Amino acid sequence: MKQALFTLFSICIVAMAPEMQLYATELQAGVAVVDITPPLGCRMAGYFNERLNTGTHDPLQAKALVLHQEDEWAALVFCDLVGIARSVSERARRLAAEKTGIPAANMLIAATHSHTGPLYAGALRQYFHDRAVAAKGADPQEKIDYPAVLAAKIAEAIDKAARSVRPVALSAGMARQEGLSFNRRFHMKDGTVQFNPGKLNPNIVRPAGPIDPDVGLLRFRAGDKELALLTVFALHLDTVGGTEYSADYPFYLERKLQPLLGAEGVSLFGAGTCGDINHIDVSKKDPQKGHLEAGRIGTTLGDTVMKALPKLRPQRSPRLAIRRTIVQAPLQKYSAEAIAQARKDMAKIGTRELPFLKQVEAYKILSLQMLPSDILPMEVQVFRLSDEVAIVGLPGEIFVDLGLAIKKASPFPVTLVIELCNDAPGYVPTVKAFKEGSYETVNSRIQPGGGEKLVEAATRLLKELVDR
Ligand SMILES: [Zn+2]
Repeated sequence: MKQALFTLFSICIVAMAPEMQLYATELQAGVAVVDITPPLGCRMAGYFNERLNTGTHDPLQAKALVLHQEDEWAALVFCDLVGIARSVSERARRLAAEKTGIPAANMLIAATHSHTGPLYAGALRQYFHDRAVAAKGADPQEKIDYPAVLAAKIAEAIDKAARSVRPVALSAGMARQEGLSFNRRFHMKDGTVQFNPGKLNPNIVRPAGPIDPDVGLLRFRAGDKELALLTVFALHLDTVGGTEYSADYPFYLERKLQPLLGAEGVSLFGAGTCGDINHIDVSKKDPQKGHLEAGRIGTTLGDTVMKALPKLRPQRSPRLAIRRTIVQAPLQKYSAEAIAQARKDMAKIGTRELPFLKQVEAYKILSLQMLPSDILPMEVQVFRLSDEVAIVGLPGEIFVDLGLAIKKASPFPVTLVIELCNDAPGYVPTVKAFKEGSYETVNSRIQPGGGEKLVEAATRLLKELVDR
């Protein structure tokens, strides 16, 4: 009876308003991939020493997914970069809005956090750049204006994806991945908390925090073809190392999914909240980095994704809507003497002449000096795709507990929380972690409590969207 009524209703709509109304309720999606590999020889990001690029293992890409339903448009871009400078995301969003008419507010530009991409912004880049200019009159590592090129290419990816939108079927769900990710902060026998204390370190007592084994999956199919498959997993992309450009383990994930995706389907990867999560298993002595390790991780994750695909739930009533807010997070403050000392200490960065955490602190203090105010505007975005599925985008490297708290409070059974969206203001630890200290808290610019404010804001937006 229900079926008969529904059929009758459908026929009426078709009779009253051909195509327009019928198609108006459909979700449409388009995807595009643009190469963002910088020239040979650029400085590379990820660590505190100057590392010059020597080639490309696999090209860096910006992958755009544009969604459209009725009057709503959204764009999500995933870039193989350690972070997105706010100046670049703002410029890319503005350019893309001019080209497509999609509101800049509805765009999320994420970095996957690959540590084998370019160092193109921030206090460390500024220091190395100034040093090169002072010594040589020009910076041989910066032959092009990469931030401008990057912004234009991200906008181009959004434009291409927007032009190719077509009706899609969305299915979504969560798989579980054990054994690949580890909390990298540990309680030690001396009562301290340390990050990456080293494999088989006898002074380790226990991890200082959890992991998030969820693998969030969104599958977009156009007819019988795969259009895009988004995987969100909380595991730091620092598994390759070296001086060749690489997308890190998402490259191997994509390779594993290629037979499913075919020639046109695109594997998108979003970094979950992995500020304190990496791949290092301290209980084993195996090698820590390299393409073998990245391959192992990407392939294992790919197997998990493939096994989960038949279990994803079809989203028969997509309801695209976007909300965002800006959290005003107070920044840490330093005295004039501390700032002057940090400027001196930068000369020792990447050397053994200054303890590592002192180098990190100098970099952080100078990063703070590059910001225009003592309040950091942190953008929180929520994209509702259906009554069951939502995506949250947050700036910075978010501690896993914060992402878990958002998922726990979210009324959407499938909530994907993606970090490093639109800005890269260092780590976003929990209040608990700030009390414990160690690397991530030294390399954070916000005051304790900023991360919890992001959780509150994201939860509020998720609840607003479920009630509408
Ligand atoms: Zn990191």
